[in-house]
Amino acid sequence: MTDWQALEKRYFFNVTKRTPLTLVRGAGVRAWDDRGREYLDFTAGWAVNALGHCHPAIVEALTRQAQTLIHTSNQFYTTPQIELAELLVKNSCLSRVFFANSGAEAVEGAVKLARRYGKLNLNGAYEVITAVNSFHGRTLAMTAATGQKKFHEPYEPLPEGFINVEFNSLCAIQKAITARTCAVMLEPVQGEGGVNVPDDDYLKEVRGWCDEMGILLILDEVQTGIGRLGTLFGYQMFGVEPDIMTLAKGLGGGVPIGAFMAKDRAAVFAPGEHGSTYGGNPLVCAAAHAGLKYILDHNVVGNTREVGDCLLKGLEALKDRSDLIIDVRGRGLLLAIEFSSDLAERAVLAAIEDGLLINPIKPNVVRLIPPLIITRKDADEALTILSGVLEKLKSPAVAAVE
Ligand SMILES: *Cc1c(COP(=O)(O)O)cnc(C)c1O
Repeated sequence: MTDWQALEKRYFFNVTKRTPLTLVRGAGVRAWDDRGREYLDFTAGWAVNALGHCHPAIVEALTRQAQTLIHTSNQFYTTPQIELAELLVKNSCLSRVFFANSGAEAVEGAVKLARRYGKLNLNGAYEVITAVNSFHGRTLAMTAATGQKKFHEPYEPLPEGFINVEFNSLCAIQKAITARTCAVMLEPVQGEGGVNVPDDDYLKEVRGWCDEMGILLILDEVQTGIGRLGTLFGYQMFGVEPDIMTLAKGLGGGVPIGAFMAKDRAAVFAPGEHGSTYGGNPLVCAAAHAGLKYILDHNVVGNTREVGDCLLKGLEALKDRSDLIIDVRGRGLLLAIEFSSDLAERAVLAAIEDGLLINPIKPNVVRLIPPLIITRKDADEALTILSGVLEKLKSPAVAAVE
């Protein structure tokens, strides 16, 4: 049998921390490794596979579009991107769309748009205030936007124009705003940075303050958008409307796509000021359109809210029974377990042994981001496995696993 993991170590940059598991196939909420073992996949390609693996709606759209027109560039009009744009606009509070190829690129585009707005309307203001423990992607500029030192240090000096302030504090934002500020950019719930849920009125207060200051509010919904929190967009959960919003992960249901959207007053790009070779390509837009339409037509968001609530209750019960868990949190199907010590890696390996895939995001935090189509039965199965994982974590024997 081919040792894929050894080959990866030989050929790849040694930059990606992977769980020692080679996945070769997926269907719905399940995935299989190269030894034929089956797993309940609560990582969903990092909150990407909203409809699980190889959903028929996505497969059908990809197959059809692959046989029709795969790529043209944006020199020409193509129909899938226009259909997807219309579906997004009709179902959100934003009125214009630009398609990119990843989350980082979408957020970077959103920041460029805010800078154009600043140049045109705010005397050249260009600074964007972001939050500590945020995550906005891996381009150089988005590394600076990301409020985590560990992402900054290897690449300093970083592009300027980003101020990281405490999350969930209006006061911190108020103190950081100057005449140079063009926007505040936040995740409605911080995903990669630990699944941090702000107070109910935080975003409303920030929205109000941005209005008072005349600056833009950008919501980075790359992770929270498309149903993940149990509302189609995260802004709906918190009762605010952003001026600019970014999307990616769940938007494509597995194909690489990003997008940023804006209200008319913030849609200030002039012809030629932004662009992309692949962005909005027919193949990915056909898949994204089919996925989003399925989500809307089948109340997948309602399922997310309902099953997410059950799963969170189950996690709370596990927490009540175990000293190893100090917090469980999240909304919808963006959930996290925080351990009392650095047990995340061991928990991931122990869960794999019992057929569950989960995602470590901090030494002491694992994230549960299953497909939005999971049933209560899938949630119960995961809870049973997690209960067993906690038992294993109690015994030092598991510590030998490497
Ligand atoms: C994942 C993520 C990004 C970056 O997306 P990539 O597709 O990895 O570039 C940006 N913002 C948020 C909120 C994310 O969760």
